[in-house]
Amino acid sequence: MRWENLTVESGGHSRAADAALFGADAVVSRTFDTPEFRGITFHEVRARSIINRVPGASRMPFEWTVNPYRGCSHACVYCFARKSHSYLDLDTGLGFDSQIVVKVNAPDLLRRQLGSRRWLGEHIAMGTNVDCYQRAEGRYRLMPGILGALRDHANPFSILTKGTLILRDLDLLVQASEVTDVGISVSVGFTDPALWRTVEPGTPSPERRLDAVRTLTEHGIDVGVLMAPVIPFLSDHPAQLRATVRAIAASGASSVTPLVLHLRPGAREWFMAWLGQHHPHLVRRYERLYAEGAYAPKWYQRRITRQVHDLAQEYGIGPARAGMPRRIPEPPDPADEPVSEPTQLTLI
Ligand code: SF4
Repeated sequence: MRWENLTVESGGHSRAADAALFGADAVVSRTFDTPEFRGITFHEVRARSIINRVPGASRMPFEWTVNPYRGCSHACVYCFARKSHSYLDLDTGLGFDSQIVVKVNAPDLLRRQLGSRRWLGEHIAMGTNVDCYQRAEGRYRLMPGILGALRDHANPFSILTKGTLILRDLDLLVQASEVTDVGISVSVGFTDPALWRTVEPGTPSPERRLDAVRTLTEHGIDVGVLMAPVIPFLSDHPAQLRATVRAIAASGASSVTPLVLHLRPGAREWFMAWLGQHHPHLVRRYERLYAEGAYAPKWYQRRITRQVHDLAQEYGIGPARAGMPRRIPEPPDPADEPVSEPTQLTLI
């Protein structure tokens, strides 16, 4: 999606289009004074198309996406979608957190496109670029119309989110899951409250996200947790991994999938600046760990995956325990955990 795909918002808005910013008269920009939205500008646009094909879809587990927003006030420092803001001539740092593009016609457009004879009813993934349950959704309420359209067309879909606002649409999710395949994933990379406040400052706390997992599960919706990102040297200590997997297990999640932090251009600069400010002693270690590019070395990724899978097995997360009581063993005393870093990490 580029600006040239967008058309002019119809009338009735309080502010003129921000032509200077976007080089077109296709946008209505708004700000709201409520504490929840202070400092955030919403750019309301009318998209021409809402179901997007994923470039290189053969390498992805999904081929079609719907993204009603661009930019994300959840403001995760590491967010890989930051780069996409530069395609709109917007800043990938604070601009990504505070300049939010809202496709106000997304529900109507989706309903129309789902009804087209050319659409074959394939799976649609949401939350794959930015979070569709970010704070803006509380005001614009695009998701109820989107979910209603998917339900009415019995079109399979999945949602990945950090937003507890998803619970507002619980009834729609239950209704949709009665007629089609619905996959929900909630992202919880760690449970450390101090780390959460600085690195994911606009998100609901990990605890609240896991409460949302519990509620969805109690209503019969299968929810997996994407344990992402595991942040090297900040959330990867064995005691931290154990605490996180244990909390995920206690939430009733059906699966846990770990993903180590990756730092693509756009996210990398912003994350490294944050690291220099909050954890300057780690900067050189990160430069070495990510010397080859956007991804941590394979040995590191494999080590984290193995640790998380072992913990998941220990705490009984997975389809095998369906129907079993949700009794979660107490965590061991952190004093029992190894405190020295693995050899590989001391070398970098
Ligand atoms: S919630 Fe997701 S999309 Fe939003 S800033 Fe965080 S990582 Fe990016």
